Amino acid sequence: MSLLERFVRYVKIDTQSDADSSSVPSTQKQFDLLNLLKQELIDLGVKEIRLDPTGNLYATIPANSKTSSPSIGLMAHVDTASEMSGKNVKPNIVKNYDGKIISLNAQDQTFLDPKVFPSLKKHKGKTLVTTDGRTLLGADDKAGIAIIMSFIDHLKAHPEILHGPIQIGFTSDEEIGRGVVHFDPKLFKADFAYTLDGGAIEEINYENFNASSAVVTVQGKAIHPGSAKDQMINSQTIAAAFHLALPKDLRPETTDGYQGFIHLTQSSGGVEKTELRYIIRHHDINELKKQEKIMVDLTTSMNQNLKQKLIHIDIKSSYLNMAPEIKKKPEGLNRALKAYQTLGLNVKAVPIRGGTDGANLTYKGVPTPNLATGGENYHGKYEFLVVEDAELMVKVLAEIVRIKV
Ligand SMILES: [Zn+2]
Repeated sequence: MSLLERFVRYVKIDTQSDADSSSVPSTQKQFDLLNLLKQELIDLGVKEIRLDPTGNLYATIPANSKTSSPSIGLMAHVDTASEMSGKNVKPNIVKNYDGKIISLNAQDQTFLDPKVFPSLKKHKGKTLVTTDGRTLLGADDKAGIAIIMSFIDHLKAHPEILHGPIQIGFTSDEEIGRGVVHFDPKLFKADFAYTLDGGAIEEINYENFNASSAVVTVQGKAIHPGSAKDQMINSQTIAAAFHLALPKDLRPETTDGYQGFIHLTQSSGGVEKTELRYIIRHHDINELKKQEKIMVDLTTSMNQNLKQKLIHIDIKSSYLNMAPEIKKKPEGLNRALKAYQTLGLNVKAVPIRGGTDGANLTYKGVPTPNLATGGENYHGKYEFLVVEDAELMVKVLAEIVRIKV
């Protein structure tokens, strides 16, 4: 089966996770793909497979050489993002792409336009897989899964590639931040690993945000508006003032690259009480702490001006930047960079403005940088996969695991 055939097969299975569900995994339908992958691994002759009820699939491909070599892990997640439906995905294959506008859905007037997405121009002549404009595609992260499965197939067809033990990990619920909560590094048995969960082919990621969240609660005083004079405290007015007092140059829509932000994700409430939910992000942990302090100081000063403690703030840490840990144990990163070099491919390290399963796994003791899949425009209807780039990643993986004699 070709990588393209695998990919099309996987994206047709709805595996959307659900942040509002407390079950593990959050949706049972993620097992539809996990069970299929388990069967495909059996069909590929993989002997050591374990599918946990938590939605984690572990498999081991034993070493085929006596030369000692580290145990290398490869990971991808089965679930898709909640921003857009992953049901009834109808992948559209564009062969020998002409570099022009692709009509995703003529009826809805949905187009993939190189003017809007300039990277499309680089893919002229290649095979693209797009959506029909009504769902996401699910290249995030089924492209990663297709690459790993094709890689296992590739190793089977090329026994001359000598390698150490290879550990496979397919996880669920990555998109809702629970990807490695129940993932067991002891069962995974990797010395270091890679998530195949990145974007464009020329990028590698080993830096991500440090992340925390803040809940700001404002207590008001609700009174009939007819007799409210000098009595009512409208918590919404105070909440609005709080938000507008935060630095405007620290918002996601005004920042890029290594700049951090404070982002209001949700606000709710009424006169009596208002709640503001924020996420706080920065690649540098000290800068993250400074941003947290801006919010705490604002709370204090506003309460002083109000002469009452009406504003309360609660800050929690979410995840950390993996970079300091990767720098301490750089073997996996260096191996990947060398593999690209050997294949004559240019790769650049791009800081992720988000987190990955690999970041959490890194802090569980398995350094896990993130590799590309050849997919772009994740989490929406403009998502697409460049098939030749995904195929190239199979070669990159083969080079990473290869024992040089
Ligand atoms: Zn992903």
